[in-house]
Amino acid sequence: MTALKAWSYSALSTYLSVCTLKYFFRYIANLEPERTFSRMYFGLSIHAGLEAAYKVWKPDEPAPIGVAKKVFAEDLRIRLEDPMIEFKKGETPEGLLTEGMAVLDVWGKEARYEEVISTESEFTVPLVHPETGEVFERGLKGWFDLVAKDPESGDPVVVDFKTTARRFSPTKLDDDLQARIYGYAIRQLHGLDRASLRLDVLVRNKKPVFQRLEVSQDSEGDARLFELVRAAERGVEAGVFWPNDGSIWCGGCPFSKACARWHENPDTFQHASAGNDSRKTR
Ligand code: SF4
Repeated sequence: MTALKAWSYSALSTYLSVCTLKYFFRYIANLEPERTFSRMYFGLSIHAGLEAAYKVWKPDEPAPIGVAKKVFAEDLRIRLEDPMIEFKKGETPEGLLTEGMAVLDVWGKEARYEEVISTESEFTVPLVHPETGEVFERGLKGWFDLVAKDPESGDPVVVDFKTTARRFSPTKLDDDLQARIYGYAIRQLHGLDRASLRLDVLVRNKKPVFQRLEVSQDSEGDARLFELVRAAERGVEAGVFWPNDGSIWCGGCPFSKACARWHENPDTFQHASAGNDSRKTR
């Protein structure tokens, strides 16, 4: 199963929702990023801290905040050595460290022990049309941040950690592409009719907030997911890549210099797409 070439949520959402040209730079041309961003590293380091905490958390014990903080701090220190990093105005490494500690304190006070099935586990599943049985040429792949065991049913619950600047709207979760893909994958992997998913959101407010949002999904959206992947695949195969100029994504785009030269030779992108799609990265 792991030999499949597959679409990840990140690749799919980049092509469908963010910018097709960014997709080309990252997944077809495999360009090195021109710059990196402190907020991205902050989120990755929080992830590392939470993952470490869940690995050592014992029943009937409080959340191992000390472990989470230690791993977060060390992970952040290493990441911030990146010479290409861009900080937001007024942001400093010391400030990020303090902010991370505050965010993890809030998490530690509100999180409750749950039995862990796996942390940071990779999956690859075939994509099958629920009505016709057609198996798509590429499967779906991704990484579950945490899979916990539901204490009542014993079924797996997929948990995704998010670090955001604003509260996450609960209604967005119903149509969320990542939730749809992860729900599909866990149902396939465990032979379930319904998937339970949870979003643990750490909001980077002045006063940090911990949001826990839950959604349950059956196969109702599977046909739509299948066709979405097919639409993206057709676009990529046809070499359809154009800049999403002025979008909210441009400020945080690691390929803005390459993008600025796109119009000088747009045909390059069509020719380059044929047979050069690795789609291996997260
Ligand atoms: S700068 Fe904007 S338009 Fe250009 S590739 Fe990046 S996201 Fe797309």
